Amino acid sequence: MKAYDAIIIGGGAAGLYAAFHAGRRGRRVLVIEHNGEVGAKILISGGGRCNFTNLHAAPDRFLSDNEHFARSPLARHTQHDVIALVKAHGIAFYEKTLGQLFCEGARSSQKIVRMLLDECFAAGVDIACGARVSAVRRTERFIVETSVGAFSSETLTIASGGLPIPKLGASGFAFEIADQFGVPVVATRPGLVPLTFGESDLAWMRPLSGVSADARVQAGKVVFREAALFTHRGLSGPAVLQASSYWAPGEAIHVNWLPDAAEHLLVERKRERPKAHLKSVLAEFLSERLAAALSEKLPPAALGDIKDAALIEVVRELKAFALMPIGTEGYAKAEVMVGGVDTNALSQQTMEARKAPGLFFVGEAVDVTGWLGGYNFQWAWSSGWAAGQAI
Ligand SMILES: Cc1cc2nc3c(=O)[nH]c(=O)nc-3n(C[C@H](O)[C@H](O)[C@H](O)COP(=O)(O)OP(=O)(O)OC[C@H]3O[C@@H](n4cnc5c(N)ncnc54)[C@H](O)[C@@H]3O)c2cc1C
Repeated sequence: MKAYDAIIIGGGAAGLYAAFHAGRRGRRVLVIEHNGEVGAKILISGGGRCNFTNLHAAPDRFLSDNEHFARSPLARHTQHDVIALVKAHGIAFYEKTLGQLFCEGARSSQKIVRMLLDECFAAGVDIACGARVSAVRRTERFIVETSVGAFSSETLTIASGGLPIPKLGASGFAFEIADQFGVPVVATRPGLVPLTFGESDLAWMRPLSGVSADARVQAGKVVFREAALFTHRGLSGPAVLQASSYWAPGEAIHVNWLPDAAEHLLVERKRERPKAHLKSVLAEFLSERLAAALSEKLPPAALGDIKDAALIEVVRELKAFALMPIGTEGYAKAEVMVGGVDTNALSQQTMEARKAPGLFFVGEAVDVTGWLGGYNFQWAWSSGWAAGQAI
């Protein structure tokens, strides 16, 4: 049985990052990946351009039951450390919007996978792809039995990611191991995911499929202003994806379709153009199709025939438009998982399970979920780095 200092299960962002940092410390490291190749999610991320970090990465852009947990890993290995590494590998990148750093060029996310593999190679890390784990045992050391043989190690790091996109190899493996070693798990749900609606809403939404609007979308107490996009089953677009991570079933979301308009908008237009209809005023701010659809929800009359108070009320409604999702598109379409291995059971310094010495959890498997825009990779890098110093 081949012996290692550190075995890492999962050859994705967090696992490979932890691996080469441990390898640089002179540790003998094995990464076990069940797919034929490493980094499947990195390859498809950011539309093939991998939004690998965010200039504004900070703890308040992450969800967790334990909101202070991410602070230490994020502070000790920051977006600037990651940017330095990407630069050192000569990978060109640019800021798309809101601090989001993407690689330059079509399919450039391959360069991030190449960077991780080069670093692993330089640090002497062994990688076993296409290896299925059949059992994990602990004697004095961890014993990992796989389809390509059994391995032993002093430490075991679970970097097997979250549940989104099962067809790319996502699995609940981290939760099986957590269960086996008595580590608690916070309930999981899809995040950064399109929201779905019932037939009564879809009757007006479906014809708008493909239409987008610059909107403010609120779920719970959190509001995001970005694009909202109608789909044939409901709503998507960055603002809705962001809100979805905070949405709880049975709750409404509130959409402000007129984020830049004053409450007196229609009253002012009534003075200027009393014969105008709501639809033509809304079309100043929204696409014609959306303006028409939202206008149909109100009585068709010229602005001049409607009382000022009623016009103010209409704008208020459009600024806090309540919609009741019936669900989400689920893990098949989610970009990330909310919930995961309970951070209360982990060390903030090292990601080690307090009650199972030698066992570490990193990346998306852990109950830390980033906003859209490079935050989730930053968590994978920061948590992987933290473990990489200790395993
Ligand atoms: C479509 C899409 C686009 C995204 N784009 C972005 C983006 O641009 N920016 C961003 O910040 N985030 C993005 N994300 C989120 C990001 O990909 C993840 O948060 C990140 O990959 C998590 O890293 P990880 O290492 O924890 O998990 P992963 O990268 O998912 O790696 C886990 C690895 O473990 C392997 N594995 C699972 N189970 C086992 C097992 N039993 N045995 C062995 N191996 C196993 C998996 O095959 C996988 O290779 C995107 C996600 C999706 C789905």
